[in-house]
Amino acid sequence: MSVKPTHVGLSLREDLALELYSDLAGHLAQLGLFLRVEMEDHPTTDGTLRVFTALRAKHANTGIVLQSRLFRTPKDIDAIPPGPLNVRMVKGIYLEPAQIAHTQPEPIRAAYVECVKKLAARKAFVALATHDDLLAEQCLAVLKQAGYTREQYEFQVLMGVREELWKKWREAGHTVRVYVPYGPEWRPYSIRRMRKNPQILGHVMRSALRIG
Ligand SMILES: Cc1cc2nc3c(=O)[nH]c(=O)nc-3n(C[C@H](O)[C@H](O)[C@H](O)COP(=O)(O)OP(=O)(O)OC[C@H]3O[C@@H](n4cnc5c(N)ncnc54)[C@H](O)[C@@H]3O)c2cc1C
Repeated sequence: MSVKPTHVGLSLREDLALELYSDLAGHLAQLGLFLRVEMEDHPTTDGTLRVFTALRAKHANTGIVLQSRLFRTPKDIDAIPPGPLNVRMVKGIYLEPAQIAHTQPEPIRAAYVECVKKLAARKAFVALATHDDLLAEQCLAVLKQAGYTREQYEFQVLMGVREELWKKWREAGHTVRVYVPYGPEWRPYSIRRMRKNPQILGHVMRSALRIG
């Protein structure tokens, strides 16, 4: 289960977010399930990492999302205390200011590969959450070089996006996990995401019209 920190009150009080995430993690552990702390825009990064660090100290069935777009991410990887770690690596959906983030596709990709190298060096479980097949190939090469087995990483994709890739990855023996937004509040959720990054609307229109 993936939950955004502001959905459990991070922007009200960090201890509230920690309490609600902890309840959820305990409940999910009884069901044999995993809780992913998602990453939102940069004003929430410090608080999210603090909450995750405290959560992970008590609940092994939890993981975090890190964004290659942000300059700070390699240092954030170093700052996460030792021990088993499960990271969903993403480019980052929020359009962040150029003072703190890469804004062009190539540097965002290069930073993604660098972060995967750092995660591999500490033997973290890595979820490659991308639909960028060239980037995925580069990351697979990094993980292979680091001696990863198929149990130590997976692909994560958004429902409906580039399904031909999932098939290719699954046929090659990789695990592919599909992210499925659900619940009655899907409309405000979707609109909020499009406001944060209007490029999503372009993706949706291209997919609907089957362009590209
Ligand atoms: C499982 C999952 C969880 C995520 N969780 C977070 C998170 O917690 N925080 C966060 O900041 N970001 C999150 N993201 C979003 C991520 O940061 C990127 O914005 C998103 O994955 C697009 O980048 P890309 O790596 O797929 O490459 P891109 O270069 O953006 O896309 C590669 C290809 O996929 C297509 N594509 C990509 N996205 C879409 C779409 N939505 N609809 C249609 N086509 C699309 C593009 O047209 C292009 O052809 C998540 C992504 C995934 C897959």
